[in-house]
Amino acid sequence: MMERIAIVWLRRDLRTHDHPALSAAAASCDRVVPLFVLDQRLLDGRFASGPRTAFMLGCLKELDAQFKALGGALCLRSGAPEEVVPRLAEELGAAEVYWTSDVSPFARERDRQVTEKLKLIGVDAVPSPGNFCADVSVPRTKNGKPFSVFTPFWKAERELPRRPVLGQPESVRLPDGIDCGELPAHEQLDQLLAQPFCKPGEQEARAALDDWIDGPVDAYADNHDNLSGGTSDLSAWLRWGCISARETEQRAQDRGGDGAAAFVRQLAWRDFYAHVLLMFPDNLQLEYQQKFRSLEWSDDEEGFAAWCEGQTGYPLVDAGMRQLAASGWMHNRARMVVGSFLTKDLHIDWRRGEQWFERVLLDAEPSQNNGNWQWIASTGVDPAPYFRRIFNPILQQERFDPAGEYVRHWVPELADVPDKRLAEPWKMSDEEQQQAGCVIGRDYPAPIVDHASERRVTMDRYRAVSPPKD
Ligand SMILES: Cc1cc2nc3c(=O)[nH]c(=O)nc-3n(C[C@H](O)[C@H](O)[C@H](O)COP(=O)(O)OP(=O)(O)OC[C@H]3O[C@@H](n4cnc5c(N)ncnc54)[C@H](O)[C@@H]3O)c2cc1C
Repeated sequence: MMERIAIVWLRRDLRTHDHPALSAAAASCDRVVPLFVLDQRLLDGRFASGPRTAFMLGCLKELDAQFKALGGALCLRSGAPEEVVPRLAEELGAAEVYWTSDVSPFARERDRQVTEKLKLIGVDAVPSPGNFCADVSVPRTKNGKPFSVFTPFWKAERELPRRPVLGQPESVRLPDGIDCGELPAHEQLDQLLAQPFCKPGEQEARAALDDWIDGPVDAYADNHDNLSGGTSDLSAWLRWGCISARETEQRAQDRGGDGAAAFVRQLAWRDFYAHVLLMFPDNLQLEYQQKFRSLEWSDDEEGFAAWCEGQTGYPLVDAGMRQLAASGWMHNRARMVVGSFLTKDLHIDWRRGEQWFERVLLDAEPSQNNGNWQWIASTGVDPAPYFRRIFNPILQQERFDPAGEYVRHWVPELADVPDKRLAEPWKMSDEEQQQAGCVIGRDYPAPIVDHASERRVTMDRYRAVSPPKD
């Protein structure tokens, strides 16, 4: 009898546990080819990222080991998936191609083209869930519209049915004689980042999830805003699908308690922004709120460079930007502060911030990055008056890094600045500067702008295009 062959085309679902597409392929076919296509449009495209590519290749290497342990291997091909996937399906005589559905306009158009080409050669395309906690295409408001506010989305989404969490397939058997190709040589993560935030791959991810659920999650509701710790640190693994969001959610729900509940709610933001991009794909280019499309942005290149390099003279902004450059990650509270600083203190276009994050963050992903950047620029969904999202970097530092642990770690030239001056080191007297070994303007920059004045400028700029209602 002829053996049935399936391809599982992997993209950002780089795992073997709780993988609906992989499990379905293994259940319905005798031979399964786990395939990854190295697409130059993504590797060298506008948002190409050395660190993220290195992280991805590390995940692929580890995934290959996981598949080998199950009796198979990861197969690699290079080129445009629209060409590569149907060609391989034809060569192998595959009956079906499985994959995990995605939400970005690029991914959806690519998948549409692959589906069409497969149809022409009589091969079934089988998209499956797997990237999110629930099916983000389903929730609608009472009026049948997509959601644009988080809380009602979350209330609707948490009522949606959940698929069961799946284990690994028992085995993955390749067709005989298939050439699996080799991973391209690439710089390692630790050659590109001074202190990589986390290690790639499913095993690391699962161990970190176990550790998180085993205890620290209990304190999440109280500690998640502490800049020096308190969050799960799982985002890069979730982004690459080394762990599934659905399994993460279930594990937290099984743990129970206030911390786990707050964590589950935070995970729902990820589903929310995926829903938003699926429903409003133009957001990738344009402000969701039309009235803000006429905002004019500054082309202050010096300001932008100082922001990227963590040399603005505002310790919390600089700590965040340096954490990003050194580790490929930044705490959420710091992301909000640096995002507010770029758009509301320097008046620089949020798209430039989004692009910079896309280049450096290990967890950068269009729906999440765009959604959060538009949130902090006050141009996106989940609206609040713009003046509510102008973050004061001094107050934020005093509140969320009271002992200065985070700032002193990432901005070591401020290590000996006394606590009471750490958020505003430019206020040190000459004597204090000498004692701290930190002369402002020599060892650490003076603030490049005055927050209080720039806040007023922002109020005027936003008010001009969005006058308050009578
Ligand atoms: C300007 C800006 C840009 C951002 N860009 C990205 C991005 O490209 N990719 C990304 O994954 N996150 C992004 N975030 C959201 C958030 O900062 C990170 O998800 C979070 O810091 C990851 O750390 P953690 O895993 O310890 O989070 P935890 O607090 O432990 O949260 C658990 C998980 O919930 C999800 N989550 C938490 N907060 C958010 C949020 N605000 N929006 C969406 N999902 C969330 C993440 O998947 C996260 O891993 C951005 C935030 C801002 C303000």
